[in-house]
This record gives sequence, C-alpha cells and structure tokens, in this order.
Amino acid sequence: MKICRYVTRNTASPPSPRFGLIEGESVTEISGVPWGAWTRSAHFSRLADVRLLAPVEPSKIVCVGRNYAAHAAELGNEVPKEPLIFLKPSSSIVGPEEPVVLTKFSRQVEHEGELALVVGRRCSHLRDSDDALAYLLGYTCLNDITARDLQKSDVQFTRGKSFDTFCPVGPHIETDLDPASLHVETHVNGALRQSGKTSLMIYPVPFLVRWISRMMTLLPGDVIATGTPAGVGPLAAGDSVEVAVSGIGVLRNPVQAPQD
Ligand code: ZN
Repeated sequence: MKICRYVTRNTASPPSPRFGLIEGESVTEISGVPWGAWTRSAHFSRLADVRLLAPVEPSKIVCVGRNYAAHAAELGNEVPKEPLIFLKPSSSIVGPEEPVVLTKFSRQVEHEGELALVVGRRCSHLRDSDDALAYLLGYTCLNDITARDLQKSDVQFTRGKSFDTFCPVGPHIETDLDPASLHVETHVNGALRQSGKTSLMIYPVPFLVRWISRMMTLLPGDVIATGTPAGVGPLAAGDSVEVAVSGIGVLRNPVQAPQD
C-alpha cells in the first residue's frame, strides 16, 4: 500500500491536507490518519490533480549517524560502538518538490539520502524477542540535509541539522516492503552522488527500532532516519537533488539560495 498526504490543485478555497492511498493513477482519500484508525472514503482524485506533501507529521525525527562504515570513513570517523542518534525538529520537514533553502549561516550544506521508517504503533523498551518491524507503518525516502561546517564547529549536531527545509520526506509511505536489502541512491542534477544498500547498515532496521525505543517512547507517526551511505557532498542554489530508495520511489527537491 502506498500512503500519501496531499492537497488537491485548482481549488478556489485554501485546500486542507488529507491522507490518501495511491492506486495506479488515482488517489483515494482516507478518513483519519494512517497510523490510527482509518477508512477509505468515496472521494478520489487523479494523481495528476494533487500536490503531494510530506507524508508524515511526526512528534520527532530520530536520526542515526555513521550507520554505514564507508560514510563514517569518508568523514574521518570511527564506526560507533553503539548507534549514534540525534534529533531533527519536525519544523525542518518539507515535502516532494518543495525547495531546500540554503542558509547564510553555512558555506557547506550537504545532502544525505536515507531510508526512513515511519512508526505505526506506540512502543517503548522493546525486548530482543519483540518483532520490531510490527511497530512500523512503513518506509519512505528522507534527505537529512546537513550544514557540515556547523556540524563540525558546534559540539552539538542540532544547529547544522535543523534549519527550516533541511528535512525533505516522501514522496509517500510504502507499507509492504522488506527493509533488509534496499538500494539507497542520491543524484544531484542527474549525476549519481551516493549509492548504498541497506544490507550494509552497521545496525539494521529491527535493531535500531528496538534500541531507540529503550531511549525514548516512539509515537505513531514518528520518523527514524537510518543513516546515509558514502558519497555525501555539497548542494548549491539551482541544484536538483533526488533521493531514491528501491521499492519506494524518488524524492526530488530543488535547492534555493538563502533568504536574507
Ligand atoms: Zn543522516
């Protein structure tokens, strides 16, 4: 199942976002939220007549750093002895085709294409014997945009990871997917920059869900970004950046110059 959040184009009044199911070339509206109780409605639109939004409204975005050995090495870091986690604010989220806006506070803004997990059921303190994947609603693409210079100069990751528009997510949530061996690729202006497989993760998806749930309660709709493969690099105004995860789709965003 492909779950999206969208507004219909060409409406006279300001459109209100809604969730829907993408089925072929149409979108069927659902009542409620996909991580709660929901039903199919009788309303549907042509996919061409809707604008897709970020498919999540999380209370938090939990990110995993240095989860691919080749990426840790390219930044001169050791592989962590346990998962390295940090947070991005939900205010940094943008959807497909929405601009990533650079900031005058950084001279080195970079892409990080990642597989993202969407939590479906509240969970905390999961045990090793628990089926972690059963707590997930599905999977999507995420670009963990990072001001690399600020990440290095600040002790905390917070500033470098948190500017508005620094978290593109989408284009939709795929619920029927095995996350163990997916291709994660990032292209900039059509040129391949990052290519990895989720089978290369140091800490695989079920381990991450269980481990993070022991640090903080995961709520329905929360997002976990699972780390980026090697090949991170700079973005410039005018670029077009695409994160593709096999079995899901392509998340494309234009890059804009800073606002003053
Ligand atoms: Zn990342």
